[in-house]
Amino acid sequence: MAISEDIIEKIRLSNSIESIVQEYLPDLKRIGRNWKACCPFHNENTPSFLVNPEKGIFKCFGCNVGGDVFKFVMLTDNISWYESVRKLAKKANIEIEETKQDIVKTSERAKIFDILENSTMFYHKYLLESAGAEKAREYLKDRGISRETINKFKLGYAPKERILEFALKKGYTTESVQKAGLIKENEKGGFFEYMSERIVFPIFDVQGRIIAFGGRTILDRAPKYLNTPETIVYLKSSNLYGLFQTLPELRRERKIIILEGYIDAIVSQQFGVTGAVATLGTAFNKNHVKLISRYSDAVTLLFDSDDAGRIAAHRALEILVENGVECKVSNLPEHMDADEYLNQYGREEFLNLLESSSNGPIDFMITKVRGDFFSKNGETPETKAKAVYFLLDFITKNSNLVLQREWIKTVAQRMNVDEEILWNEFKKKHKLKFKNYLRHYGDLDLHTVKDRRLSMSLEENFLNIILNNRNYIEKVDCNFFEDVRCRRVFKLATSGLSEAEISDALSKENKGDEDWFSGLVLNAIKYSNIEEAFDIILKEIKTNRLERKRLQLEKEILLMIEGKREKDKRLFCEYKELTSLSKGLGKWNA
Ligand SMILES: [Zn+2]
Repeated sequence: MAISEDIIEKIRLSNSIESIVQEYLPDLKRIGRNWKACCPFHNENTPSFLVNPEKGIFKCFGCNVGGDVFKFVMLTDNISWYESVRKLAKKANIEIEETKQDIVKTSERAKIFDILENSTMFYHKYLLESAGAEKAREYLKDRGISRETINKFKLGYAPKERILEFALKKGYTTESVQKAGLIKENEKGGFFEYMSERIVFPIFDVQGRIIAFGGRTILDRAPKYLNTPETIVYLKSSNLYGLFQTLPELRRERKIIILEGYIDAIVSQQFGVTGAVATLGTAFNKNHVKLISRYSDAVTLLFDSDDAGRIAAHRALEILVENGVECKVSNLPEHMDADEYLNQYGREEFLNLLESSSNGPIDFMITKVRGDFFSKNGETPETKAKAVYFLLDFITKNSNLVLQREWIKTVAQRMNVDEEILWNEFKKKHKLKFKNYLRHYGDLDLHTVKDRRLSMSLEENFLNIILNNRNYIEKVDCNFFEDVRCRRVFKLATSGLSEAEISDALSKENKGDEDWFSGLVLNAIKYSNIEEAFDIILKEIKTNRLERKRLQLEKEILLMIEGKREKDKRLFCEYKELTSLSKGLGKWNA
């Protein structure tokens, strides 16, 4: 279904946001220009949820969600954008006509969403009704998937090579179908349909839009699973299967379970396991962490007990630990999938298993290295040393000093090594980590370090080093500082003024700056190795700036993808370059 912009505006105008929200939140009260209520998307007692009728938007300052009237209905009903538009259109008695002309008028991105939405309906209907999908229905039944779940996840079945014909009939071009990722040209000049003769798992983004498909063959064919390729609306690494469907409960419980397969995630949710999601046939990565952090505070990894499962768990664990996400790994009995376990033992037993088999990161790693290092050559002094060093490496990935200490204690006990020796080795191996320095000497807590103002306070730290070690002045250009006040102070310092004189000068120029400056000077961190600290902070500032620029580009690219900004291929190139650059710089490594 393609809806023209005019119609969407008409629907929006006919559904004032305050009246729609009030239907869901009867307590919504007018306070000045805004309307206020307790947020429906997170638990709170004091209202931080605002609706501004003039601008037609809502915003919660507690959990940060916000948007227009369509977004509000999407979130409260947990439906897709299309469904939300349809719902509000119906309410206002506005007819949505589907015309070829509308299709021509919509942007490329909207076209792709339309094609995917239409295809989903086509596959779904086929699965439910066609004689050709009998085997698929049986397969899903065998795996314990109910009709209700099939509807919730919009599962489907793709008959042999029919999607192109279907889309053309609907008025789309072959080119658009290709851009949606449903087909690709084959050597014979025809087209290969990715989903052909497969059970179709539509992949939703967090807004409930269908962005791609995963397909499982039920014929004896390789590969067993095949996904449609990445497109302008689909990035594998930025989405998780099943996330959209579990969002309402997830917003309350904030716990995610990462499973290996689509069916694992589906069946878990069917059994009422909140937050069960799966990765999309790609290794767990940093983007996943970002996505997860928005909706959860703790992550459980549940991977198969085979080697591949352990490797995947290890990789995911490292990334989670590196990014400071609380996590643990649970194990399934060997040769058993999560869905089998659930079907056999039920929800309670499954949750018990998650709990009883769970290992914190360091316990998981110890078990892993014992297996890796001792299985071949046994436990010798040499293999033990290797194993311990491997564990020390892992521990440095975590920047939480308290956890580091605890983990080292655990390693000492379980590997039977002297704790003091471990500590010394640990410190020797990883001499100076800036974050630890801050905590040791600057009594700044983790929150300050994680703060958005990170680069700002880094600049202040950097400035402090220079003020206390004036010979470093020549190493830095005054334009290096982004913080105007830091730049000013640096300039004053280059002309040889003392701290007191700088403070005096500041107070004359801009009252209040001197308060800041005196605080800065008094809070100076004492570094044991100034040269090293200087280099590390400098590098960190540069890394942060690169990252900021990269995120900015990311935003631009997203706008581009959404059709809200002119297309520019250079952005992609620049983005790629920056990504590899910031990788090269690394984090925290001197
Ligand atoms: Zn909220």
